[in-house]
Amino acid sequence: MKEKTLAQTGQLRDLVREAAQRLSRAGIGEAHLDARLLLEYAAGVTAQEYLMDPFRELPEEKIRAYREAVVKRAMRIPLQHITGVQEFMGYPFRVNAHVLIPRQDTETLVECALEKLEPGMRVLDLCTGSGCIAASLYLIGREKGKVSQKSRFDASDISEEALATARENCQALGADVRLIRSDLFDGTEGPYDMIVSNPPYIRRAVIEGLQEEVRLHDPYIALDGHEDGLYFYRKIAAQAGRHLRRGGWLLLETGHDQREDVSRLLLEAGFACVQAKKDLAGLDRVLMGMYNK
Ligand code: GLN
Repeated sequence: MKEKTLAQTGQLRDLVREAAQRLSRAGIGEAHLDARLLLEYAAGVTAQEYLMDPFRELPEEKIRAYREAVVKRAMRIPLQHITGVQEFMGYPFRVNAHVLIPRQDTETLVECALEKLEPGMRVLDLCTGSGCIAASLYLIGREKGKVSQKSRFDASDISEEALATARENCQALGADVRLIRSDLFDGTEGPYDMIVSNPPYIRRAVIEGLQEEVRLHDPYIALDGHEDGLYFYRKIAAQAGRHLRRGGWLLLETGHDQREDVSRLLLEAGFACVQAKKDLAGLDRVLMGMYNK
């Protein structure tokens, strides 16, 4: 084991190097990037300031705050739980241990929903977590003229704590979204023109092999798709039709290997025009279907 070495000076560059070494020893892949991001968070030094003057001396109390943040990250606490924020679709979302940290993959779902969105629609985001899908869909939809006075956005979650976080996010961002406590559809107030959801979809046996940041810090109920990962898709596919208007769309994020299973579930439940969409990494990520029965 390499000896832990503290930086000899209080210069930014030395402190970042010390932090990156500590994070890298803890098995963190993007150690240098995280070291820089934590410098901004804990000591208020932006990337630009760092680049312009890497030899600047940091005052003692900021060095302490920085090292404390680095120690937390070295314990594999996600960066976003330390900084309290994750950007999604260009907006900052508050996050905590009660909500899944928004993933870039999920932006594909929002892009698909934006294509289907029209003024006056009633929209439901099921299992909203931080509220990232509902809020960004509302805000970008409004910018694109796809949200009108008659539009209504609902977002539901089974967790009160998640709803409180979603509420905080929607208020801070100015997204007019109604938050509903609901176990899937049992408290929702449809019918809707569009239902979007990124439900928990990871197979139980896979969860224990995930990196610590996810396995120990994302809420287990936000990950757990039960034995085969399809538990929520089965329920949503079977129930969504009763909560959609004729011709309404259901859009679901899926795992990269779930396209066939989930499209079968949608077809069996009476959805038409079932289409899949890949994420930026080229993996199957979204399935959508229109309810026409
Ligand atoms: N809808 C939220 C998100 O996409 C939460 C998803 C979940 O908890 N599985 O971030």
